[in-house]
This record gives sequence, structure tokens and C-alpha cells, in this order.
Amino acid sequence: MSMKPKHFDHVFKNFESAISEKYDCGRICAPLNGGEPVCCTADNAIPVVEKSEWKLLKKRTDLWRKYKPVDAASRKIVEELADTTCAIECKGAAHCERHNRTMACRAFPFFPYFTKEGDLVGLAYYWIFEDRCWVISNLQIVEQTYIDEFLASYKYVFKRDEADEDAMKDQSAAMRRVFSRWNRPIPLIAPDGSFKKVLPKSGGKIVDAKIEDFEPHENFSSDKKYRKAIKEWGGKAKGKTLSPDWSEKEWWKNP
Ligand code: SF4
Ligand code: SF4
Repeated sequence: MSMKPKHFDHVFKNFESAISEKYDCGRICAPLNGGEPVCCTADNAIPVVEKSEWKLLKKRTDLWRKYKPVDAASRKIVEELADTTCAIECKGAAHCERHNRTMACRAFPFFPYFTKEGDLVGLAYYWIFEDRCWVISNLQIVEQTYIDEFLASYKYVFKRDEADEDAMKDQSAAMRRVFSRWNRPIPLIAPDGSFKKVLPKSGGKIVDAKIEDFEPHENFSSDKKYRKAIKEWGGKAKGKTLSPDWSEKEWWKNP
């Protein structure tokens, strides 16, 4: 069995909630990325979707187009994609249509974390974005509705696509290896919204945690460090703060 367009339609209808209704996290990461949210730029991560998801998106919107490689590295990534998948890109954050986001857009920066024994126990994050994704440094903002929809959607997908489940098990194992090497616990959000951590070099042992156990990445630890990081990424740091006016939603018009 595999995911068909109608199955992605089901996922899209049932995975609509934002990570947080209160915080517009793109406002914080965009200055580190030329004014665009980090997860909305194909330069950072080329969006790869199942061809059936692409078929559905094409029918619903012109927001997405086939991704055109820009250099040898991106050409290689596209050439090596599995036959069932393809690379696409959207028109950018200013044109985002929430109901026409891919499943990957909805899930970012999280992936479903599996124990060594193969149990799905919560949400972990794509750690290579720790230095630019503000959400990763602020897991307390993730809302219960989002957690519920995230897990229900992945369970729905895994029932139909074993390869996707295997890929997430591999991703979880890779995270255990990397964090053990760094001697750092893996932060997890459990299905009930509580926090857990996977202890390093412990064979994957999970214990209860508090949000205070998870230190923010240096770039998000103070306004000073944040502004330094913006400068390092080539942005304009003046006036940028980790405490913007969250009520101002149309941030991209005033980056
Ligand atoms: S999820 Fe992370 S990378 Fe994406 S917009 Fe929010 S802070 Fe930026
Ligand atoms: S569809 Fe929206 S959330 Fe997804 S990459 Fe494009 S702008 Fe970002």
C-alpha cells in the first residue's frame, strides 16, 4: 500500500494547526536568512515530496513548481531521489497558502521519534537547523493541538507507507548517534505535551525532563548574540530583537 493523492488530502485536512497560534516564528529566523523564514527557502532544504502529494498539490494550487537545480550539488540531490518522489519549490513566504503547504512544511522542524525498539514516542527535531530555527530553542511554545495532529498524521501515513516509517526510524537512530557523540540529551516532546530526554550513550534510555533542561542555541540566547548571528549571516542586525511585537502578523512586509 502507498499514499495516494486522496490520502494526502486527508492529511492536509487534518494537519492544519500551526505550531503556535501566538508566535509567528518566521519573524525571528528570517533575519538570519536574507528576510525569508529558514524553512521556506529551497537553498536550505530542497522540499522533497511523494509524487502522489505533488499530483494533489498541482490540482489545488499554482503555489508550487518543480524544483530546478541551481548547481552541481542540488543536481546530484535531485538525480538521486527515489522514483516515487520529486523535488518542488514554492513561490516564497509572501505567497504562502496555509492549506496548500506540503506535509513537510507542516511538520518542520519536527520528525516523529522512534525508540530503538521501534515505538513512536514523540517529536524530535532536525538538529542541523538548531542555529537558525527559533522554535527548536523554544519547545515550550508548541501547542497540544499541533502535537496531536502531527502524531495522528504520521500514524496515518505509516499505515500506508512502511518506507516512510523506516526512514524516520533511521533518522531517530542517526540522532541518537550524533547526540551521543556530542554527549547531549535529545529533547523530546511527548504525545501529552510533556518533555522527555533521551540520555546520551545510554542505549536510548528516556527519562522525564523540564523545559529548563534544554538550553537555547547560542544564537537565540540573548539579543546581543542574536544580532551577532544576524551579522554573521549577512543580515542587518540593527533593532532586531528576540522579543518582537508578536501581534504584528505581516512581518514580511517590514523585515
Ligand atoms: S519553524 Fe523554525 S525555521 Fe521555520 S519559520 Fe519557524 S523558526 Fe523559522
Ligand atoms: S508553502 Fe509556505 S510554509 Fe511551505 S515552504 Fe512555502 S512559504 Fe514556507
